[in-house]
Amino acid sequence: MSIRLFASRALLPTGWSRDVTVDVADDGTIATVTPDSRRDAAEDAGGPLVPAMPNLHSHAFQRGVAGRTGLAGADGEDSFWTWRRAMYMFLERLDPEGSEAIAAQAYVEMAKAGYGTVAEFHYVHHDATGRPYADRAEMSKRILAAARTAGMPLTLLPVYYAHGGFNAVPPLAAQRRFVMTTDEFAALLAALAPLARADGAALGVAPHSLRAVTPDELDRVITAAPPGAPVHMHVAEQTQEVEECVAWCGKRPVEWLLARESVDARWCLVHATHMLERETRALAASGAVAGLAPTTEADLGDGTFPGVVYAASGGRWGVGSDSNAIVDPFVELRQLEYSQRLFWRRRNLMQHAPHESLGTAMWQSAARAGAQACGRRTGAIEAGAHADLVVLDEDDPALAGHTDTLLDAAIFGPCRRPVRHTMLAGRWVVRDGRHRDEDAVLSAYRHAMARMGGGPA
Ligand SMILES: [Zn+2]
Repeated sequence: MSIRLFASRALLPTGWSRDVTVDVADDGTIATVTPDSRRDAAEDAGGPLVPAMPNLHSHAFQRGVAGRTGLAGADGEDSFWTWRRAMYMFLERLDPEGSEAIAAQAYVEMAKAGYGTVAEFHYVHHDATGRPYADRAEMSKRILAAARTAGMPLTLLPVYYAHGGFNAVPPLAAQRRFVMTTDEFAALLAALAPLARADGAALGVAPHSLRAVTPDELDRVITAAPPGAPVHMHVAEQTQEVEECVAWCGKRPVEWLLARESVDARWCLVHATHMLERETRALAASGAVAGLAPTTEADLGDGTFPGVVYAASGGRWGVGSDSNAIVDPFVELRQLEYSQRLFWRRRNLMQHAPHESLGTAMWQSAARAGAQACGRRTGAIEAGAHADLVVLDEDDPALAGHTDTLLDAAIFGPCRRPVRHTMLAGRWVVRDGRHRDEDAVLSAYRHAMARMGGGPA
């Protein structure tokens, strides 16, 4: 059933417009967008309309670890690596039902928070002993099912993971659930292609990182990907990783990738935290997307992304909820901007045009690049795009009195609960802050977490 929506304010690719009618076709895409129109019989959107934010990096199961890594170790040396150990311990208990329940809860939270597509970087393929399930695609199917339940459009990125460090170091015992051969990976991709198609999901590939994949394997994984499909890879998240990469090949991770691979608009380099200025400028020129996860990077003590140089060089960047300890695109954008302010001791840094609203510029940039990274036409209110839309809640005190600065208020203001309704692929999945299935999904999540054990991960 087609829908005709009317919003007195809507954020179009050209900026905020007034009295906008949006026609949504039966297939869930936007048929036409008409500014300066009359409402007539159209449905009132109920507030200002913005494109939903693509979430370009998620590990859904890590939602179950949120809040379980706050017990300090005895030696005062807690870091990304000790966090990872705790996360691996949680994995010992994760089963397929639990994985689906946690992912559905995470995706419901994403829809409520204003995300409109999720790129799931999915690496837990096998059972807790490291044996493939009878159906090798079992865990991937759980992700597809969770996305269906939540009504969350999905870009599924099965991960190829083979080693415990540079130079083909054997994987750790704790990594046994991730590991497969490149032939097995190609078979998994082939099995997933029709399932993804049936669900309207996009399918890409995710060679995990240079730590976990040799150059030969990287070539084979990229070759196995469907033509034009997204390629996502963790890179340069940790200084230790950069040092090990230099020791291995004489180059830094981003430097090595740009020299060896045809890094282009298909690619999303996740984190890319530790880059020299020349790497930053070269990545910006490549057309690839830097996949930032500002709250996760802050939580894990990763470092500060060189956002000012990257953005000033025309680099494309989007945001993801990554560990899902925080699920909120507005907070990701705030954290990104604040990280730059603390570093440079200046303000309003992640934009270039004078007198432009920072919030608007950041939302537009992240939405556009996030859509590119997800390989899905979304992130813009324009004809032909999927109707992935967020209606802001004007009753939020943070938004009172704002017009062209609405997104500054929604990102940086106090008392923010900025999302009222969310439409995904042309269907309302969140109305007045409630997801259509949130009670059932939460109940399944509580059961799963109780069954898999509480306490620290
Ligand atoms: Zn990640």
